[in-house]
Amino acid sequence: MTQLPTFSASSYDFEIKTVFEEIEKIKTEKNGEIVVGLQFPEGLKKHALEIASQIEEKTGSTVYISADPCFGACDLDMRLLEKSDLFFHFGHAELKQGDIEKKVRFVEARSKVDISDAVKSALPLLPEQTIGLVTTVQHVHQLTQAKQILEAAGKTVIIAEGDRRIAYPGQILGCNFSAAHSDEIEKCGALLYIGSGQFHPIGAALSSKKRVVCADPFTSDVFELSDRKFLMQRSAVIGNAADAETFCIIVSTKNGQYRKSLAESLKAKAEAHGKTAFVLFMDFVSPDQMLSFKADAFVNTACPRLAIDDSGRYPAPVLTPQEFEIVLGERAWEDLVLDEILEGGQD
Ligand code: SF4
Repeated sequence: MTQLPTFSASSYDFEIKTVFEEIEKIKTEKNGEIVVGLQFPEGLKKHALEIASQIEEKTGSTVYISADPCFGACDLDMRLLEKSDLFFHFGHAELKQGDIEKKVRFVEARSKVDISDAVKSALPLLPEQTIGLVTTVQHVHQLTQAKQILEAAGKTVIIAEGDRRIAYPGQILGCNFSAAHSDEIEKCGALLYIGSGQFHPIGAALSSKKRVVCADPFTSDVFELSDRKFLMQRSAVIGNAADAETFCIIVSTKNGQYRKSLAESLKAKAEAHGKTAFVLFMDFVSPDQMLSFKADAFVNTACPRLAIDDSGRYPAPVLTPQEFEIVLGERAWEDLVLDEILEGGQD
């Protein structure tokens, strides 16, 4: 028999007891067995079978697992949700984006890895007096601990609220850095980002115009962020789109990515500059789906990470809305920021 990966040994907390309790509560309300839907981001899918197996065994529920790609809370599997009495979305905090069905539960899969060594190691890179803290939802419960470590070293620490799309103070998303560029953060000399990867801290740096130090609790790597390579890549993409005449503007129909109004305003801007633009609607955005559309360049209003993470795989340059404005001459290069889906930004 295949040995399933043991999620209890994972670095993340799947809150399995709470999951069981929620299921029992809904079973009691419904007076019988229920259908439970499960959805995981790509990095946690390896734990799906073991979690499903435990739920079936412990609660007698029927379990269905969403196998479609999933990258955020913006991307609930609505079809599976319809077929479920209770639906668990793992790995992300709720996106405050209007009415989410009451049967959805967000299990954030918070990190169990200690952050203290990484934060202490970051101190020599933080000579500024006032430090802003930002992180992803996986470490958001550890920000108080990080604050205490910095305060014990004599620092003033700010953990700012993001906009109403964001669940926790100090939390940033790949599409929302509002906790990194709020009025409170203005007082900071630098930001400390706790977490892995470079996309989030680059977004925080560009939107706040602050120096960002990164502390990765998984590897204990600590370094000052440099956005130079990133900006060179984006400069190349913008340059490749400079002579484009025909643009396709991408709209995703996913619940938390849908920005039709923005696409329409970008189309109007293109036409005002004598360009041709079409709006493409799709659920999952991928390079293969673009092959049939012979545009000179694409403009992405869906998940902002798409234009960045996979940029080399598309058949033509993929611009963010802000980069498109640079191509049209409506925005200066110095004003480049990462695209964000902010509170009220969806319609
Ligand atoms: S739009 Fe992209 S960055 Fe924002 S929550 Fe969804 S997957 Fe994450």
